[in-house]
Amino acid sequence: MRAAEAAAAIEWLVEMGADEIIGAEPVNRLVAPPPQAAPAPQAVRPATSALARPSLIRPAAPATDMRAATPASAGNSDAAALAAQCATLADIEQALMRYDACPLKKTATNLCFADGNPDAPVMLIGEAPGRDEDIQGKPFVGRSGQLLDRMLKAIGLARHNEKPEEAVYISNVIFWRPPGNRTPTDQETLMCLPFLKRAIEIKKPRYIVCLGATPTQRLIGKSEGILKLRGRWFDFGGIPLLATLHPAYLLRQPAQKRLAWRDLLSLQQKLKADAH
Ligand code: URA
Repeated sequence: MRAAEAAAAIEWLVEMGADEIIGAEPVNRLVAPPPQAAPAPQAVRPATSALARPSLIRPAAPATDMRAATPASAGNSDAAALAAQCATLADIEQALMRYDACPLKKTATNLCFADGNPDAPVMLIGEAPGRDEDIQGKPFVGRSGQLLDRMLKAIGLARHNEKPEEAVYISNVIFWRPPGNRTPTDQETLMCLPFLKRAIEIKKPRYIVCLGATPTQRLIGKSEGILKLRGRWFDFGGIPLLATLHPAYLLRQPAQKRLAWRDLLSLQQKLKADAH
């Protein structure tokens, strides 16, 4: 295979979502496997077969009471209990580092909790980290994030603005990248949700903006599609919540940016009214 062909093949694999190295040795799956040797006729095995010899059997791990052995990590698989113990946003990030029940954590490179100014009145919530977010450990730093930053700038907001009233705080429903950017399962989502809800309780944003269907449906408990929900203000425990389109969708459907623009203007109007 020539270098250009190899590069094209790798690019194709990355596009398909196969962008993780999971073994040290490459496996060429395009080569037919060698024919399997016919199984040897089953001889009656003596009781002392190689497998049964004690020296070849891995000794069983001593039975350990994990809770007794690691008191500091007690209950690290109980999302609701861990989240309830958190008093600050930093506590939530720490608790997510200890939390060990979500299978996405095993395949992700980094925890991706939040970015932006924690004192900002606006909290944006997306779906799940992608490849760039997984590498950097911050939400919305890839192409969608760059579009999001441009959209925010158009209404005078920036995630790292030191003036809270001109800043935003950004998080996601899911805190670890699903392999190959697949849609997170309900179970994975429900495992992360207590942490997001606790983050909202602690941060007390003046407004929540949900980017796309997943955060909107999860927080307001409606199953309608995002094109029906967007542009509307809902109530989330006393906090006004605006549903809008996800920037990744806008990258695929640029004509829909006019709808997102309307939503942003609606947010800007609220912020301006608060300033007066
Ligand atoms: N899409 C999301 O929903 N969240 C991110 O952090 C990045 C892309």
